[in-house]
Amino acid sequence: MTQTHDVVIIGGGVAGLSAGLYTVRAKLDTLLIERTVMGGQIINSEAIENYPGFPHGVNGVELVAAIEEQASKFGLQYGFGEVTALDVSKRPFVIRTEEEEHRARSVIIAAGGDHVKLGVPGEQEYEAKGVSYCATCDGNFFTGQEVVVVGGGDSAVEEAVYLTRMCTKVTVVHRRDQLRAAKILQERAFANPKVEFVWNTVVEEIQGNGSVSGVALRNLKTEEKRRLPATGVFVYVGFNPNSRPFQGVVPMDAGGHIKVDLMMHTEIPGVFAVGDIRWKSTKQLANAAGDGVTAALAAYEYLEQNR
Ligand code: NAP
Repeated sequence: MTQTHDVVIIGGGVAGLSAGLYTVRAKLDTLLIERTVMGGQIINSEAIENYPGFPHGVNGVELVAAIEEQASKFGLQYGFGEVTALDVSKRPFVIRTEEEEHRARSVIIAAGGDHVKLGVPGEQEYEAKGVSYCATCDGNFFTGQEVVVVGGGDSAVEEAVYLTRMCTKVTVVHRRDQLRAAKILQERAFANPKVEFVWNTVVEEIQGNGSVSGVALRNLKTEEKRRLPATGVFVYVGFNPNSRPFQGVVPMDAGGHIKVDLMMHTEIPGVFAVGDIRWKSTKQLANAAGDGVTAALAAYEYLEQNR
């Protein structure tokens, strides 16, 4: 029989690590389970310029190492493995990985998600060298330059307009001739002279020489192929939260984001969700940290009331 932890945190990104820092400082016995390496999405970020307190930017790996060291100092325990199931039918809750079973009085789900990739040549090679999945994070690196946005949903259209604040031209490449984005976002984009649309077209390759220099396009109606010069490519073709193990356990929206209230409670008392896996997340690093803190405080309160 394994020991019962006060808190098990699923996911070692900044949301999970921040939650852990707060729960261990409240003297709650806490195990954080990560499936690969600590840090989540930001370990691919060379320089994060929008995390408060770092006027010269901070390297993602270094920031994660610092939070991990800070949480370890107060006693956060780490485990590795992919969580495959969460059983909330009995208390304590049971968290299963492929090889182990853990028990916890409360659970904070911080498993994040993945941006859907285009899957075209050059995308992986030029990630962080011109290919980005976050305009708010990386837009500033393209000040005064021409960039491409791929997609036709709310994210693509909203971020295309955002990018006009620093870029000279933003070309939205969309595979159909109609946008999926909300009408109000569409109107904003159509009215912006810096935004151009290329319809019925897909990106076949992201090209460059050390960093992105352009995209190879193919029109799906005419089969015409052409090259469009650009120094940045922002891909917004969807986001997949890593919520499969929690389906049927906690309520989610249609996109698989876990529904929470303002204190990060799910509908199951004692189960919380934070960061990119929760609905209406801003998908920003500082918010991920804030979510973790909020859930940790809520978990503390829940455990105090349910001793
Ligand atoms: P989304 O709504 O799923 O849109 C994805 C877009 O990418 C669609 O236009 C889709 O084209 C296109 N696409 C998908 N796969 C592609 C591929 N392989 N190649 C080229 N294009 C591809 O994703 P999202 O924009 O990230 O939004 C996700 C959710 O967040 C939505 O529910 C959205 O409403 C919400 N959101 C809301 C706001 C807001 O309210 N301000 C802002 C951002 C996001 P098709 O249209 O042809 O399928």
